[in-house]
Amino acid sequence: MTNTTTTDTTNTTGTGRPRSVSAYAALTPKAPLEKTTIPRRALGEHDILIDVRFSGICHSDIHQVGEDWGDGIFPMVPGHEIAGVVAEVGPGVTRWAAGDRVGVGCFVDSCRECDNCLAGLQQYCTGSSGTVFTYNGVGRDGEPTYGGYSTQLVVDEGYALRIPDALPLDVAAPLLCAGITLYSPLTHWGAGPGKKVAIVGLGGLGHMGVKIAHAKGAEVTVLSQSLRKREDGLRLGADDYRATSDPAIFSELAGTFDLIVNTVSADLDLSAYLGLLRTGGTLVQVGAPEKPVTVNAHALLVGRKSLSGSMIGGLPETQEMLDFCAEHGIGAEIELISADQINAAYARVLASDVRYRFVIDASTI
Ligand code: NAP
Ligand code: ZN
Repeated sequence: MTNTTTTDTTNTTGTGRPRSVSAYAALTPKAPLEKTTIPRRALGEHDILIDVRFSGICHSDIHQVGEDWGDGIFPMVPGHEIAGVVAEVGPGVTRWAAGDRVGVGCFVDSCRECDNCLAGLQQYCTGSSGTVFTYNGVGRDGEPTYGGYSTQLVVDEGYALRIPDALPLDVAAPLLCAGITLYSPLTHWGAGPGKKVAIVGLGGLGHMGVKIAHAKGAEVTVLSQSLRKREDGLRLGADDYRATSDPAIFSELAGTFDLIVNTVSADLDLSAYLGLLRTGGTLVQVGAPEKPVTVNAHALLVGRKSLSGSMIGGLPETQEMLDFCAEHGIGAEIELISADQINAAYARVLASDVRYRFVIDASTI
């Protein structure tokens, strides 16, 4: 820590000192979130202080508070879809100035030296401490990380993204996870003109998938549990919308898709979905259910199908996605909530009752 620009040596809010900020945290696993305060580190040479304006609620937040994926670090302040404005910069910061509109996604650091980091795939860092996730992680300083359900955040300047002026901050926040999580596989597997793409699940991730795949020129089908959200799906850019509760669709659509992206947070019979792929097609798993996925080998063998996975995206691709979304007028469809509604929002996400992303107004934290 080399920054000593503040002259205030008594309080905890000067640039050169750690600060205490308001946040919503689960104090223990599965506990409802409640208001608390958390420490934010003093601004280092290359750190920026961000005033959080909006923070999206991702289903991953709920998985992690519930320890669906393993032990968590508590108190836990979730939130990895963060949009805000730079408030202060460390003395060595060159990329940002106070007032800049920035976003922070699922990670806040990585080793910066491994092949993946050097290739811009920081989400797959293979360094000894790996990708440092925005919350429920441990920073390179050994301290726990706390996420975006908070009023301020300190982050290395290299791990913030520029939010283009054309994107309002509230609808931009969910792009930092939901947006990039769909943009990356849709780009990698070439969703575009002449390609038939299915998006399974029309939730936070799924609705971004529909918008982005449509903007890339692909023919898009939504595979949802019911036809309840059909009108929305078509408005968002889907060409077709089917209910997976109707077993007939699995024969009607057999052999149809070049690419299927499964965003569902629960177990699905993936073998049935593999049957919807064309020869050589790919099913990409981005939903992260608690239990292992199982697949009938024959569903892969017949037609040389691929089953793959994809996790968020690296810094360069996340910036590319934000620029793409700005160019195409794509933001998330959001329900803006105050912080005291977080627990109710979690219950609605679990009930698939979200259209299509809850976003917390950080001024209410
Ligand atoms: P979400 O908003 O809850 O959307 C999930 C959608 O899946 C629901 O809206 C629902 O869509 C469908 N669904 C839910 N339960 C289902 C069930 N039992 N059977 C069939 N369909 C069901 O969640 P999200 O924020 O989009 O996240 C989705 C998953 O992706 C979570 O597991 C999350 O942890 C994971 N995730 C992964 C990454 C990554 O990098 N790979 C990044 C972020 C999130 P319909 O009502 O349309 O059926
Ligand atoms: Zn997420």
